[in-house]
Amino acid sequence: MKRIIIIGAGPAGLAAAYELCRTKDSKLSISLFETDDQVGGISKTLQYKGYRFDLGGHRFYTKIQEIDQFYKSFLGKNLLKRKRLSRIYYEKKFYDYPLTFMNALTNLGFLRSVEIVLSWFYRQLNRYKMEKTFDKWISNRFGDKLFHLFFKSYTEKVWGISTSKLSSDWAAQRIQNFNLFRAVLGAILSLDTSDVKTIIRTFFYPKYGPGMLYEELQRYVEKKGVNVYMNHKVTGLKRTKNKVTHVLVKDIKKGIVTHIKADAIISTMPFNELISLLHPPEKLTTQVKSLRFRNFITVNLLLKKNPFPDQWVYVHEPDVKVGRIQNFRNWSPYMVKKGGGLTPVGMEYFCSEGDKMWKTTDAALISLAKEELARIGLAKEEDIREGFVYRVKNAYPIYNFDYDGTLKLSKKYASNFKNLFLCGRGGLFRYNNQDHSILTGFFAARSVFSTDRKHDVWSINENSEFLEEKL
Ligand SMILES: Cc1cc2nc3c(=O)[nH]c(=O)nc-3n(C[C@H](O)[C@H](O)[C@H](O)COP(=O)(O)OP(=O)(O)OC[C@H]3O[C@@H](n4cnc5c(N)ncnc54)[C@H](O)[C@@H]3O)c2cc1C
Repeated sequence: MKRIIIIGAGPAGLAAAYELCRTKDSKLSISLFETDDQVGGISKTLQYKGYRFDLGGHRFYTKIQEIDQFYKSFLGKNLLKRKRLSRIYYEKKFYDYPLTFMNALTNLGFLRSVEIVLSWFYRQLNRYKMEKTFDKWISNRFGDKLFHLFFKSYTEKVWGISTSKLSSDWAAQRIQNFNLFRAVLGAILSLDTSDVKTIIRTFFYPKYGPGMLYEELQRYVEKKGVNVYMNHKVTGLKRTKNKVTHVLVKDIKKGIVTHIKADAIISTMPFNELISLLHPPEKLTTQVKSLRFRNFITVNLLLKKNPFPDQWVYVHEPDVKVGRIQNFRNWSPYMVKKGGGLTPVGMEYFCSEGDKMWKTTDAALISLAKEELARIGLAKEEDIREGFVYRVKNAYPIYNFDYDGTLKLSKKYASNFKNLFLCGRGGLFRYNNQDHSILTGFFAARSVFSTDRKHDVWSINENSEFLEEKL
């Protein structure tokens, strides 16, 4: 009997379990441990008084045929095609998103628009030679003026560090060959190139939110014999020089820790935490602490009527703390309680563990969200009924300007353990989407049986479209 342990029941962990079930090897014993009491990881859907909320709206989009098939096979007709509306709020004005020429020109004013174009020309003639940091990378492509107007405040809100300390990898991964010239041309001509247009106008979304897919997947793998343990956290690993032999699992409710023998481990837990559990040499123990994640908080509110038409609004405005606002009724009408007249709205606040925002009480956060929603003008305070707060740890791997070196060293160290397979967003320390996590889960599962480890999860690229179209 081969004992396989999967850490985490997010998209990657469940995908790995699904793929292992497909091998039809009766000599497999598969156990999946999840800290939380609900599957789906960051892609879960919460329920409150019959209303549903995502942890930030999750669009379903993929260029990978295998994942497209996978989505369709589990969701079928429940994968709704939605016409989309989203805007950017900045300097007390709403910008169409993606930008449209007249709207941007009206909001920015003629003079400022000219300044943006001139600043771009200037930067084309005087490009930064070294563009390892976010600010320089963006300025080279969009000019300094646009960088300061549109990119700086929002990016610093999301990451909590200066754009001069953020690696350009994040921008390069998500934006690729886009620049001001293409953005302006696109805004004027509504350019119809590639499949970007499709996701600009419409997107796919499960009837009851993304959590629906993962709850289905949980049922599927359990039926196939996978033991899914909720409220169980992996707290330790026992290893020899090149193998992990045991996994220490804590039953959170009972407080009991069990040592479980393992032949193979598939891990989606945060990469930095996993490396620490492997007891690396002292120097790496210190270095790996610099690989950090950004957390976020969603303040979820129930509002009278349907207060605004967008699915989501990006809040670039530095005067308010909220980063993004979601209206889940507009994502899918089934996110609303049957017969219910209220609208579920999610306000996203980016923060780090232990900082002021993270430590703010739920009641104070709800007051803040109500006040900011009203200040932005998307709802009246008296129309906001009630709400709850949800804290999300390890949501965004932070690409510090020097993260890459530490990541490489840690990857090399982890690769010494021949029966340890990493996948997923936190598992690979990669800013990604669900499709990437699912595919890496498939690859990790296939690697368990591969003698030459040819399914290299690190080589799988993320989609670039989501941010590209934002611009
Ligand atoms: C705000 C926001 C919006 C997003 N929007 C989109 C979108 O529109 N479309 C899209 O495709 N993607 C989107 N994503 C990305 C998507 O959420 C992730 O790609 C996906 O959830 C990653 O799946 P995962 O399984 O790799 O990791 P996770 O979802 O992080 O799951 C990891 C799981 O492991 C568990 N775990 C961690 N440590 C342990 C431990 N020690 N023991 C046991 N269990 C453990 C966690 O509790 C968690 O359930 C968005 C992400 C965010 C933050």
